[in-house]
Amino acid sequence: MLILTCPYCGVKAEETELHGGGEAHLTRFGPESSDEAFEGYLFQRENPKGVHFERWRHAQGCGKWFHAARCTVTLEVFGTYSAQTSEPPQNIRDAISAKRPGWTWRSFA
Ligand SMILES: [Zn+2]
Repeated sequence: MLILTCPYCGVKAEETELHGGGEAHLTRFGPESSDEAFEGYLFQRENPKGVHFERWRHAQGCGKWFHAARCTVTLEVFGTYSAQTSEPPQNIRDAISAKRPGWTWRSFA
């Protein structure tokens, strides 16, 4: 079972206490952008076999949204952090690099 620690209230929550919100760190494009950019924002998502960044809501707890970095193959969690960030914090990237040498941000295997 996937267990994530909410970065706001510190509770270790099981997957059933959370609500998944899809991919984190999407670049948002509005209707005034090009058709390709808007289509990409609406429909194109990463589907990596490995490190992935996701949005989660602590639905049965504090109710806040946060981000989680985890491996989609092993369910290993590298860390959780505030949803108010535009990219993963350096400590999360360092934790991933320590366990997945050669990995880089926006480089999905
Ligand atoms: Zn919480």
